[in-house]
Amino acid sequence: MTLHNDIERVLISEQEITAGIDRVAREVTQAYSGQDFTVVSVLKGSCVFAADLIRRIPIPLELAFLAASSYGDGTVSGNLEINFFPTGNEIEGRRLLLVDDILDTGRTLHRVRAELLARGAMDVRTCVFLDKPSRRTAALEADFRCFEVEDLFVVGYGLDYAGRYRNLPYVGALKSEIFAKSKASG
Ligand code: 5GP
Ligand code: MG
Repeated sequence: MTLHNDIERVLISEQEITAGIDRVAREVTQAYSGQDFTVVSVLKGSCVFAADLIRRIPIPLELAFLAASSYGDGTVSGNLEINFFPTGNEIEGRRLLLVDDILDTGRTLHRVRAELLARGAMDVRTCVFLDKPSRRTAALEADFRCFEVEDLFVVGYGLDYAGRYRNLPYVGALKSEIFAKSKASG
């Protein structure tokens, strides 16, 4: 048995992901050409996307990380926790490009962006792999995004369910019995 057995259907294939990232990498390159900037990857979900994205951006950039978690083990948004890793030097006066796996309600990026600006960032833009516009509650739209998805819980390419499935190379929807199983086991 592999992780593939738990997937109901593939929503975005590896080939589609490659094309989407190529396009967004070109947009980011154009937007920042001639300007110093730092890509801030929001862990854990965006690590796969950030790693692929930065290797397609052929201009100077720096890389930093921070951790934000809102979901716990389930699929419903819970309390938001932000742990900052960038030092003051990495934030103050810098142009930052926040990179996240998915823009859902928008609460995470809205809060992280405000916090980075409060800590002295010169400019904070956002780049997301997936966008679920139908779920938005916070006033935040991504400056760059690869794909729009319907209101459906998705996994793969960095996105997890209960800590698993981040290593799937595509984006997919889980079979409903996977959710039922983890509920039964608590
Ligand atoms: P927001 O603060 O925008 O509501 O939530 C963003 C975070 O919620 C994402 O970084 C991600 O961790 C989680 N999230 C939202 N929708 C999904 C989804 O469909 N699948 C998974 N695996 N995580 C999601
Ligand atoms: Mg996340």
